[in-house]
Amino acid sequence: MQHSGLAAWLQARRESLIAAGDVALVDNLLETARTGRCDRLDAAIREAAHQAVMQEVPLDQLLRKPRRLKEAIWRELRQEGLPDSQTLALIEAAEPIFSRLFQVATRSYFESSQQMQDALASEIARLHSEAERQVMDRTADLTRANIELSRLEQAKTDFISIAAHELKTPLTLIQGYANMVREMDLEGSRASGAGHVLAGIMRGTERLGAIVEDMLDVSAIDTNALSLRIEQVSLSQAVNLVVAQNAAYFRERNLTVHIADLSSLPRVEVDSRRLHQILTHLLNNAIKYTPDGGQVFVEGRALPGGGAVRGNPIGSGKFVELTLRDTGIGIAPEDRERVFEKFYRTGKSTLHSSGNVKFKGAGPGLGLPIARGLVEAHGGRLWVESPGHDEVNCPGSTFYLVLPVQAAPKPGITVTWSEQPTLGSNENQEEDESQEE
Ligand code: ADP
Repeated sequence: MQHSGLAAWLQARRESLIAAGDVALVDNLLETARTGRCDRLDAAIREAAHQAVMQEVPLDQLLRKPRRLKEAIWRELRQEGLPDSQTLALIEAAEPIFSRLFQVATRSYFESSQQMQDALASEIARLHSEAERQVMDRTADLTRANIELSRLEQAKTDFISIAAHELKTPLTLIQGYANMVREMDLEGSRASGAGHVLAGIMRGTERLGAIVEDMLDVSAIDTNALSLRIEQVSLSQAVNLVVAQNAAYFRERNLTVHIADLSSLPRVEVDSRRLHQILTHLLNNAIKYTPDGGQVFVEGRALPGGGAVRGNPIGSGKFVELTLRDTGIGIAPEDRERVFEKFYRTGKSTLHSSGNVKFKGAGPGLGLPIARGLVEAHGGRLWVESPGHDEVNCPGSTFYLVLPVQAAPKPGITVTWSEQPTLGSNENQEEDESQEE
């Protein structure tokens, strides 16, 4: 590529050519013409191509300067009016230099693009595998946390079961001895006031006994060790019985209970003792969390099976829905599911009370988990709806209890069929009228 004629010609027009290209380009061209070496020219083009790719400049724009320089040279040659042979010699010398320049520029441009794409692809692959690793780490963390949670849940269940069994024996002993003392010397105890003390002991042990029974129930529910004694039960009778048993509490708290006519509801195949327990828990809560002078409403309806009730899926077959609505303090949205967790109580635990019906006198927090566990063991559903928690305006809560008409116990539950139905089997006993307290 060495051509002294071209080098001299370019040197002479260096200044005017710079206006068309740029200093480096003209000087590199000159050097190539002078020495025949392309190293600097190639390096400069490669660098320019690399920069163009990095800055996302199109190839056409990269080639614009050398193209303008080439056109300027050709223009000058034409204008100078040299003898044809001289012009031809200069063009023949310059042409391969430009042709190489364009080739190197184009090749470098695509090489740089490819390199950038490869770098991008490997960066994406790196980020991808990094993300995958993070997902795997998080999954492992979650799995570990889940195992730990299950372990804690199991420890809670084990503790309840052990504590309940350990408490039951001494409690039975205390109750036995208290009964013996009561029967021994009533005259003497009355005189000394010991009878009053004894009654207090017996009330306390009774309450403790109820808590131990609750703990045993929770542990039976948790371990799927419940057994149900199924019989046909009239819900109307079952509700009236529980309300009647709590009549004194309603009076004490000046609460009115309205029971709708439930006589047309189909009888349900349930364990009547367990149903009684469920209704008692729900009614006791309605009393506990409704201020004095409030109201409690019990209503019911038959439901076709399949689909869902207010978003809660139920199985096929017929169902019955009971609702217990109170005008109490209500339950905040975030607590509506949590109140069914073991030992969960909303508000301060300092409001804890050993009484059954004291306003806001929360118990150990086992009533609702037991009620839901028992309902679900029957193949039913129990949930609560409430506009929110407000102790001033008392928006109230509504508990929905849905039970299958035909027994559909949860798998794993032991079921026996009662030969002699105890509640609601005798049509004559049925109390179908709605009742007001
Ligand atoms: P507790 O022994 O505390 O009454 P439960 O499991 O029966 O336990 O109830 C759990 C919590 O749910 C209660 O502490 C109370 O905060 C809330 N709760 C239950 N029933 C009602 C209700 N009818 N109205 C308002 N809050 C209720």
